[in-house]
Amino acid sequence: MRVTFLGTGTSQGVPVIGCPCNVCTSEDLHDKRLRSSVRIEVNGLDLVIDSGPDFRQQCLRAGMNKLDGLLFTHGHKDHVAGLDDIRGFNYSMKKHVDIYADMRVQDTLQREFPYVFEKVKYPGVPELDMHIIENKPFNLKGVEVMPIEVQHHRLPVLGFRIGGFSYITDANFISEKEKEKVRGSDVLVLNALRHEAHVSHFTLAEAIQLSDELEAKQTYFTHISHQMGLHQEINQTMPAGKALAYDQQQLRI
Ligand SMILES: [Zn+2]
Ligand SMILES: [Zn+2]
Ligand SMILES: [Zn+2]
Repeated sequence: MRVTFLGTGTSQGVPVIGCPCNVCTSEDLHDKRLRSSVRIEVNGLDLVIDSGPDFRQQCLRAGMNKLDGLLFTHGHKDHVAGLDDIRGFNYSMKKHVDIYADMRVQDTLQREFPYVFEKVKYPGVPELDMHIIENKPFNLKGVEVMPIEVQHHRLPVLGFRIGGFSYITDANFISEKEKEKVRGSDVLVLNALRHEAHVSHFTLAEAIQLSDELEAKQTYFTHISHQMGLHQEINQTMPAGKALAYDQQQLRI
């Protein structure tokens, strides 16, 4: 399995428009973060989790020419806004794109992209096949996917575990029952927004503590704000087996 971070930034991305801070003006490419998304290549399949506003740029940058499944964690704009750009894959693959989302996300997509779901569609709109998932394991074209339900303030959000890889974005609470699904992952990706407390995201300290508790061999932190600080500086302070993720980073699992 190969995992590529397509984006590791929080909802505004890094740099933030108009921000003069040292992170937003850094020339280090590690401080350039598109909105959070990940590509998973497994069993010959090309899967992506979330299609935020940078989806088009991320697919081009990663050189993708097919998309076998698009999984959604939740319906916030920084995770769904790029759905329209699956059209590129409709053309390149000459078929619909398979979408995996829970009922709540599907409702959001229907509200945000009503033209995609019309009975009589305007020519050239995105073509998709919707697969409604719940918080139970499902088979995605031969790949076993285990959803993990986490809380993002009061919103339930899905994380996903595929083999030894677990991906959890946008969360500030995980129940004991759901933690069991994540325990012992070879690689855990976990949301860590910044140092100060936040109503709907783990801080870096909380994420480090949770990573220890979940006994992940290696943990990468994502969905990072400019308030985290410079990548190189903060990464140097990380305990063994933990690191800040950065855009275009690749992992073999
Ligand atoms: Zn988000
Ligand atoms: Zn800034
Ligand atoms: Zn969110």
